[in-house]
Amino acid sequence: MEKDFDNIKTFPANTAIIKQGEEGQSAYIIEKGHVEILIEKENGLVQSLGTRGPGSLIGEMAIVDDNLRTATVKTIEECEVLLIDRTDFNKRLESADPVIQMFMKVILSRYRDVVARSQIFKHSGDAPALEQQEKKLVKETNAVEKIKLANELSNAFENDHIQLHYQPIINLKTGNIIGFESLMRWEHPEKGFISPGLFVPVAEENGLITELSKLAVEKSCATLRNVETSFDLNQKLFVSVNFASTDFMEPEFQDHLQENLKKNALSPEQLHIEITERLLMDNPDNASKVLEKCRDAGMCVSIDDFGTGYSSLSYLHYFPIDILKIDRVFINNMLKDDSALELVKSVLSLAHNMGMKVIAEGIEEKHQADMLAHLGCDHVQGYYLAKPMDEDNLKEFVSEALKIHKI
Ligand code: C2E
Ligand code: CA
Ligand code: CA
Repeated sequence: MEKDFDNIKTFPANTAIIKQGEEGQSAYIIEKGHVEILIEKENGLVQSLGTRGPGSLIGEMAIVDDNLRTATVKTIEECEVLLIDRTDFNKRLESADPVIQMFMKVILSRYRDVVARSQIFKHSGDAPALEQQEKKLVKETNAVEKIKLANELSNAFENDHIQLHYQPIINLKTGNIIGFESLMRWEHPEKGFISPGLFVPVAEENGLITELSKLAVEKSCATLRNVETSFDLNQKLFVSVNFASTDFMEPEFQDHLQENLKKNALSPEQLHIEITERLLMDNPDNASKVLEKCRDAGMCVSIDDFGTGYSSLSYLHYFPIDILKIDRVFINNMLKDDSALELVKSVLSLAHNMGMKVIAEGIEEKHQADMLAHLGCDHVQGYYLAKPMDEDNLKEFVSEALKIHKI
C-alpha cells in the first residue's frame, strides 16, 4: 500500500495515543514501536489487555461508529503510527467502486459485532459474568433483528408477499385426500424464503398475527372453493388453518370465519381450526369459550403438535376437540424408540376412546405409514405423501388423486 506520509505521526515513549472514555475520530496502524492496551475497570483498577506491534490496527471502532473509546493505548517506546481519519476514510469509500463500497460496509458492520463480542470477553474476569454479558449481547442483537423482521413483515403483508401453501391430509384406510392444512409462506425479495417457524412467533409478539390469520382464512377458503369448483368431487374436502391464541381475543373472530365460509359457499365442517397445545394454554378460559362457539356452529377443532406441550392430559376434557395431531417428533422416533411408539399407541387409544380422530404429522417414509395403518391411525400428513404446495399444484394433486381414487 502506498503510504501517506502526511498522516504518519510520532509519539514519544509512555504517551497515550487514545484514551478510554474520550471521543475519537481516527484509527491508527502501528508502523514502528510497541504499545500497550489498557482498560480501567469500574473499581478503578487498570488492567492490561496486552501489547501490539508494527502492523496492528488500533482505535478502529472510531471508523465504524460514534462510541467513546473503550480502552487506552499507551506507547511503550517511541512509536510511529499511520493515522486513518474517519472523514477521510469515508470520503475515499464514497468515491470507491459501488461493489467495494458495499463489501466494506458489510465487513465493517460484521467487524463491529466481532469487536463488541471480543471486548466483552476481554473485559470480563469471571466466567458467569462473561456468560451473562454474552447472553445480553445475543439478546440485544436478537431484539434488533426481531424489530427489523417485524417491520419487514408488515411491509410484506401490505405488499401481498405472504402466500399460503397447502399440504394434503390423507385417509390412511382409503388412501383418499380428505383435506389440506394451510401453511404460510413469505417470499422475501432479497432474503428469499423465510420460514413461518421464524416469522410467525414475531407476528405473535407484535400483534400482526391477527391480520395474518385473517389473510390465511380468506385465502384458504377461496382455495378450497376453487378446488371444489374445478372438480366433480363425491365428498367434501376441508381446510385446516393454524391460529394463535390472540386470534381468539378478537371480538369478530367467529363472524370473520362465518363470512368467509358463506362467501365461498362452504359448510362449517369444511373449516378446521388448528391450535397448538402451548397456545391453547395461553388463555385457556377464553380459548375454550371461543372454540365452543365455533364447534356449535359446526366447525372442527384440531390440537396441533400433540404430545410436545403439556404432560397433563386432563385439559382434553376442558376443550371441545375433534382431532389430535400427533407431533412429527414421535412419528420420526416411533420405529427407533419404544417410548415414542408407546406414546403414539396411547394417543390413538385415548383419542378414539374420547371420540376424536388422529392425524399423524411428518410421515417421511413408507414404513411409518404402514406402522400407523397397523396401529389404526385415522389420517396422515407428511412429505412421503405430499409436500406443502401452491394452489395450482394442489389442483394438479387432486386431479391425479381423482384418477386413482373416487374422492
Ligand atoms: P405446523 O403447524 O406443525 O406445520 C407443520 C410443519 O411441518 C410445516 O412446516 C410443514 O411444512 C412441515 N412438514 C410437513 N410434513 C413434513 C415432513 O414429512 N417432514 C418434516 N420435516 N416437516 C414436515 P412450516 O410450513 O415450515 O411451518 C412451520 C410452523 O409455522 C407450523 O408448524 C406452524 O406452527 C407455523 N405456521 C405455518 N403457517 C402458519 C399460519 O398460517 N398461521 C400460524 N399461526 N402459524 C403458522
Ligand atoms: Ca399446524
Ligand atoms: Ca404440527
